This record gives sequence, C-alpha cells and structure tokens, in this order.
Amino acid sequence: MYRNSVVTNTQNTMNNKNISALWQYMDGKSWRDWRWQMANRIRSVEYLNRLFPDVDEDPEDLDKAVRNFRMSITPFFAALLAEEKPGGVLWKQAIPSAEELREHPELSCDPLSEERDSPIPNLVHRYKDRVLLLTTDRCALYCRHCNRRRRAKNHERDTSAANIAQCIEYIAAHPEIREVILSGGDPLTLTDRKLDDLLTAIKEISSVEIIRICTRMPVVLPYRITRDLCDILEKHHPLFVNIHVNHPAEMTDEMYEACGRLSKCGVPLGSQTVLLKGINDEPEVLQALLRKLLRFRIKPYSLYHGDPVSGTAHFRTTIRKGRLLMRYIAANTSGMALPHYAADAPDGAGKILLLGDHIGELEGDKVTLINSHGMRVQYPDGEDDQ
Ligand SMILES: *Cc1c(COP(=O)(O)O)cnc(C)c1O
Ligand code: SF4
Repeated sequence: MYRNSVVTNTQNTMNNKNISALWQYMDGKSWRDWRWQMANRIRSVEYLNRLFPDVDEDPEDLDKAVRNFRMSITPFFAALLAEEKPGGVLWKQAIPSAEELREHPELSCDPLSEERDSPIPNLVHRYKDRVLLLTTDRCALYCRHCNRRRRAKNHERDTSAANIAQCIEYIAAHPEIREVILSGGDPLTLTDRKLDDLLTAIKEISSVEIIRICTRMPVVLPYRITRDLCDILEKHHPLFVNIHVNHPAEMTDEMYEACGRLSKCGVPLGSQTVLLKGINDEPEVLQALLRKLLRFRIKPYSLYHGDPVSGTAHFRTTIRKGRLLMRYIAANTSGMALPHYAADAPDGAGKILLLGDHIGELEGDKVTLINSHGMRVQYPDGEDDQ
C-alpha cells in the first residue's frame, strides 16, 4: 500500500539474489519472530561483504569504523537494503563508511555533556520536569549517524537492575520530575518482562505523570511490536511512543501495521527525525516524509539538527539550510505535519528551537545560539555542499 512490502513469508516473493542469499543463510521460517531477527543480525564486515558485494569500501577502514561504533543490521532491514541501489538513503544510515574515520576538530564524543548532567549513571537530568533514563546500550540496528555512539563501542548490555533501582529512587526523591523518557540504546530491545517491571516501577512513583518511549524498532524491526508488547504498554498509560524516522522509504507496510497496533492500544505516536545531508535535506523529501508520518497516524514532533558528534561530519548540514527547509514546509504543508526544528547545544545548554529569536549570528560556519534562558552559545555547524 505505501511501499512495496519487505519479504513477507514465502521465499518466492524474492527476486533479488542478495535476498536469496540472505534467506538461505538465515532460514526464513522465523522471519517474523523479533528475537530471531535480533539473534540473526549482520554484525561482521565479512558477512556484510558476502551479502552486499557492492559495498565499495576498504575492508580495513570498515573494520576500523565498526570498532569505533559497532554495526548491526536486522535481516528485516537488510531485505530493504537489498532492494535499494547501493549508496541509497537506507544504505547510508545502516552500512558503515570510511567517512566515519574523518577527524574533525569541532566534533567530540559527548558534545551534549550528558555524562556531566547525570546524577546517577544512565539518568540524565537536564530539564527540571523530565529525565532521560538510558535503559540499555543495545539497538537492533546501529544508525551510522547516532549521537550516542559513544555508548555502543564494544558491548551490548542492559542497564543493570541495581542501576535502574538507583534511578527509580532518584526520580521518587525528586517530585519535580513529571515525565520519564526511556531511551538508550533502544528500550524496545528489552525483554517484555524487563520492560513491564521497569514501567511498573516508574508508574508507582506518584509524581510521574507521563512516560515517553523513544524507539526506532517500528522502522528497523517492526515485528517487535507484538500483541504481548501492546498489552504491556496499555497498562501504563499515559504512555507516548516517539519513533525515530528519517526518510519515507523507511516506512514499510510492516511499519504501518506495527504503528496501527500501537495506536489501537491508545499509544499516541510522535516522530523524531534527524536532519541528514544527502538523506532528507531536500524540501520534497522532507515534505513527503512528514505527510507519510501523518498517514501512519504519527504526529511529527521534532526535526533535530545533527549533533556535533565525532564520526558523523558527513551527515551534517547547516542551520541555514535547515531553516530554509522549515520555511518551505511551513509554506506548503498542513500545520499538522510541522515538527519543531531544534539543535542540542554543546555543554549541556540544552535543545534550542531554531526560530528567529534564538539565532544570534549566522555567519559562515560560526553560529551563535541563544537558549530559553538567554544564554549565548557558540555552535559548531555542519557543512553545506551547495
Ligand atoms: C531531548 C531531551 C529531553 C526531552 O526534551 P523535549 O524537549 O521534552 O523533547 C529530555 N532530557 C534530555 C537530557 C534531552 O536531551
Ligand atoms: S536507534 Fe537511536 S540510539 Fe540506536 S543507533 Fe539509532 S540513533 Fe542511536
């Protein structure tokens, strides 16, 4: 209906030799089982090269890139990649590239100083009324543009039960916290049991009013949105799910169904999009994405400027370009489709809406932003090819 469906359940729906190789290797019987998908992710450069002989990169560079920031690609997403031409918009987000090795003096591992704003490991308390709880460092697929790539260097683990207990205690002791945002990693990689226990513990704190889960699962592994999961989420309302989506081509029929299941159990859906050079920085692409989100019953929430994180310079564009895009969208699209465009400023100055009042100077690659408290911050902008 929206985009040709990915491989469904019979082998003869495949016509591409790469997908066939993938299936032969993987025993497609359990294709729709999310645990099977997690266990059978593509994680080695050697296996990647075997399935995608078009990956045209020096294997040594690739090895180095995945040592810096691990790779993993779900079979579900690999099937999408196999339908796409090499170097396409999905490819760039999932397959490592030597460009990640490019050094850049203005980029760093933790530009937002999240570690500094953590009273307890894995709990970021930067804004008074809400906290970010980093539940795991595991993702189904590691987006090459990830801004928390520092966390997924060489291990994949959930935040320990003892650490979670400390976080719960902190939240309970700070009644000004009205919202708990589960992030990671991807919180929906936790088992149902762990997720249910965590949500239950959060809901027992009377000062917490709402829970927000940030995930990319409906895009990279939509089979994770099972009936059982929906039953769990439904018990903990008001609970919101924000989905990380960057391009309309990521939005499959399977994702549509997963979103339908979430909506049906009363979960309001929002989106988070990262502005990515060569992926969604064209007005028509961004507009098509926002419109398609609405058709999936997802309310566009935010468009983030790419954070100044090491290894992602090739994805970053300029704030000037982002503002032009937003102007185009506002002039030509339903107000329902408008996300807010924001940059997360260095040194913990927080997210800054990129509207008139917040831009101090915009000159070349030197940008001064002004946050809601009137604080001026220098922002290391990206580069524009045009
Ligand atoms: C982005 C973020 C939030 C959520 O901010 P909203 O503006 O409510 O979406 C909360 N805490 C931290 C540390 C964040 O980076
Ligand atoms: S899903 Fe989010 S946390 Fe995970 S790799 Fe992608 S951007 Fe990073």
